[in-house]
Amino acid sequence: MKITNTLTGRKEEFVPLQPGVVRMYVCGPTVYDLIHVGNARPAVVFDVFRRYLEYRGYRVIMVQNFTDIDDKIINKANQLGVDPKTVADTFIAEYWRDAHALGIRPANFHPRTTDFVGDIVEIIERLVEKGFAYQTETGVYFDVRKFEKYGELSKKRIDDLIAGARVEVDETKKFPLDFSLWKKAKPGEPCWKSPWSEGRPGWHIECTVMSVKILGESFDIHAGGEDLIFPHHENEKAQAEALTGKTFARYWMHNGMVRFLGDKMSKSTGNIFTVREALKKYGRDALRYMILSKHYRSPMDFSEELLSNYSKAVKRVWEVLRRYENTGEVGIPKRNSVYEEYVNKFIEALDDDFNTPVAVSILFELVKGLSRAMDNNDREGALLYYHLIRREFGPVLGLFDLNEEKKEVANEELIKILIDVREMLRKEKKYDLSDEIRERLKKIGINLKDTPRGTEYTVE
Ligand SMILES: [Zn+2]
Repeated sequence: MKITNTLTGRKEEFVPLQPGVVRMYVCGPTVYDLIHVGNARPAVVFDVFRRYLEYRGYRVIMVQNFTDIDDKIINKANQLGVDPKTVADTFIAEYWRDAHALGIRPANFHPRTTDFVGDIVEIIERLVEKGFAYQTETGVYFDVRKFEKYGELSKKRIDDLIAGARVEVDETKKFPLDFSLWKKAKPGEPCWKSPWSEGRPGWHIECTVMSVKILGESFDIHAGGEDLIFPHHENEKAQAEALTGKTFARYWMHNGMVRFLGDKMSKSTGNIFTVREALKKYGRDALRYMILSKHYRSPMDFSEELLSNYSKAVKRVWEVLRRYENTGEVGIPKRNSVYEEYVNKFIEALDDDFNTPVAVSILFELVKGLSRAMDNNDREGALLYYHLIRREFGPVLGLFDLNEEKKEVANEELIKILIDVREMLRKEKKYDLSDEIRERLKKIGINLKDTPRGTEYTVE
């Protein structure tokens, strides 16, 4: 399998450190708002990449963090008049709701920065001892000029960086590119004890510490959006390699940006389209299909019109699948040469720098094949195509996945059971309990409505 490694700038054969096991870290969201389609892209891309590694027989240990302390979170908390932890807890819960609806499987570990402050302090102390960090009155900084390989990942020279980059202004720093490891707390901000001052960790050090603590000093893949290459990933790498003297992540994978209304989709520019709205209007398969139709390294244009077109294509697929399901045919096809040929094509596409557009096109070719086979009364062919779509490739891409659908059916059944129980309680005039059921369901976005036909529900 070949992947493009940002570190070397080349497409390289992927060989994990430990045979059969892949250790992988993906930078997760800063939790102060709902996620948007720009955030959905790395989530879907690396979810499918992980599924594919598993399909190829690897055991994957995946970590995705939550940045749960940050200026943005503190600002939001001040705006709302609540504490930052409430903001973080709220948007972690909202993240799960969207991630689940988008069919993103949870990683093996989802560490939160605030759970790692003790480890972060210890590692900053070691960096200070080794001479890679220094203290000023505003906090502790990484001494960029002490780390020779600074700029290796982003392919930038220090001189050019000073000229072009947005750097933190702080007159106590020795050098403009030095970045904070520990920030002295301002009055009223959440803070933790440290040997320097009460304060909180900088953004870059948290990912270094959580990845090294969970995956080890060297691990296989570090992934994220290409806007993180500099300074975030460059700084993560500098800290880790200064600390251990070893290669930090061996392969770096970066996805391209999502463009919307002529600009990068981002919260800071305000041009966002939330995942929640996208899912509500167009559904999971449409959004995943749109994301996977683009090679992960290319920029991706987003518009509602485009997403609506993908959703129409998805509906046509469902019509073909339902038509087959209505025939009542169930079975497992033989792994004949046609089967093998499709599997080989699928693997060939994804082994080539994770070319999901080709993999998705194979899926759509199979849908055409299924439709044709049904027209021609070719039962064996139809079974083969159906099986490849829904049981072989669908679960890898998270598209038209039979397992996902089973979960939804089970959820519907559970809601119906609750509605029945509520009805029984009402007949016994136990209104406090029946109201409790209605309120609890409402909290998770399921609204009950009593009609003359009985109780109906809508999902937000
Ligand atoms: Zn990170």
